[in-house]
Parts: sequence; structure tokens; C-alpha cells
Amino acid sequence: MTKLKTTDLSIGYNKKIVVNDITVEIPNGQITSLIGPNGSGKSTFLKALARILDPAKGEVFIDGENVQRLDTKTVAQKIASLSQTSSQINGLTVEEIVAYGRFPYQKGFSGLKEQDHQLINWALEATNLQKLKERTLTTLSGGQQQRVWIAMALAQDTDILILDEPITFLDPAHQLEILELLQEINRQGKTILMTIHDLNHASRFSDYLLGMKKGELIFQGTPKEIFTADKLLNLFDIQATFATLPNSDKPLVIAYDLVKEH
Ligand code: ADP
Repeated sequence: MTKLKTTDLSIGYNKKIVVNDITVEIPNGQITSLIGPNGSGKSTFLKALARILDPAKGEVFIDGENVQRLDTKTVAQKIASLSQTSSQINGLTVEEIVAYGRFPYQKGFSGLKEQDHQLINWALEATNLQKLKERTLTTLSGGQQQRVWIAMALAQDTDILILDEPITFLDPAHQLEILELLQEINRQGKTILMTIHDLNHASRFSDYLLGMKKGELIFQGTPKEIFTADKLLNLFDIQATFATLPNSDKPLVIAYDLVKEH
């Protein structure tokens, strides 16, 4: 299974460093969530992992190889990355968009092969989109559109799936639908790394958490290790009260207050 790690990774925009010196190994075969305040560098970090942004310093390694030395298609065969701003592709059907996931495997203009069609169909099945495959994206609800992007990433057939805020604009039921889908995909063997703002979803659906503040990785651990009053105070400047999810050992935040001074 593909291994993803960084050493001393710093990333910036126009020489202004916004992600600072991160050395981390993303746990294989687990769901890891990156949490932290807005503007702390989460999206920037994810983009560098998928080689969308180049590091200012340090390295990203896929299976021990520096991503800077790998070509785009090779990276895309290992990591599928979905960003919040996935553009609307007007006029294309769901099936055509999902077929884009096979792009890293095309040679020249050879077109889709039998194996490509099989993977596209499997991705449509897994995301329950078979009945919608002839529809164009813009005719779908937000939750359905999110499933289309996930299907495209699944068709890419990578070990690692990176998602930036996959549930942000969805209502509670559709949030759960996407998170349960990701959990299922993870059970089938994929490593998932995502950013998520809802702390309780982060706890419930993640095996591991990374806490990022002002461009620094300030802690990492299981939800049980991370959901302490001190750590959430440090990360978000909130004073949190905790409970435990019934029939599980997952911590929940039942309420929190702002802390102005500490
Ligand atoms: P997060 O995902 O945690 O909200 P981001 O990675 O989006 O944080 O942003 C980290 C910092 O980098 C912020 O200060 C943001 O303003 C800055 N930033 C993000 N994207 C760009 C960009 N394209 N150009 C310049 N600065 C950017």
C-alpha cells in the first residue's frame, strides 16, 4: 500500500511561508482528518501532498520517492485529490466526469479500454450514481455532486484519497451519507486524508487527527488523545466540554465557549 510522508515541509505563496516545517507520516489504511482554524494552512498542505503546489523547503515522499521527481500521471495513479473548489464542468454527464478519473492511465489518444469501463462502472456503483449517470452535473443536488467527485476519484484507482472539506456545504443527512461512503471506501483498503470543520464528525469518522495552527502541525493522535480541554483550547481558543459517543470510545464535544484571554 502506498505510503505518504513529508519531511521538514514548508510551503508558501510569493515567498510568504504559510506552512512551516511539517514532518509527518499519514497512517496507511486509516482515515486521518486535518483540523484547525481557517487560514492555518490545511488546504495548502493538502495541495503540496498531491503535488499541486511545490514546496518552498522539504520534501513529500510517495513510497520513498520524492514527488518532485515523479511525473504528474505517476502521482495521479497514487493519489486522488479533491479540492473544495472542484470546478463545475458544465454540459458533461456524470459518467463523462467519472471517466476523467481514468485520465492518468491513458496513453496518447488511445481512448478508454475495457478495464477503464469496468472501473468507471464500479465507481458509479460504489457511489450509487448508476441511475444518474446520464444526467449533467448542474442538474444534481450538492450531495449528489459531491458523490460525482468522489466517484471520479475512485475511478482514478489510487491507494490514497485526499479531500478538502468534503461535507462543508451539505445538510446533516447528506454529510453523513458522504462520511459513511468514505468509511466504506476506507474499509475496502484506501487511505483517506481530509480536512473537516465539524469536530464531532472528525472524531467519529477518523482513526487519527492532525491539528494545524498558523502553518504548524501542533499535535497528532487518535481522537481520544486529541479531544482534551487543553488541546482544543490551544488549537481553536475554545473551552470545550466532552462526552463519549454511545457504544464507542469516540469523544464528542457537547458544548464549547469562546476564550478571549488565556
Ligand atoms: P486553511 O485551509 O487552513 O483555511 P489555507 O491553506 O487556505 O488555510 O491558507 C493558508 C494561508 O495561505 C492563508 O493566510 C491564506 O490567505 C494564504 N493563501 C491561500 N491560498 C493562497 C494563494 N493562492 N495566494 C496567496 N496566499 C494564499
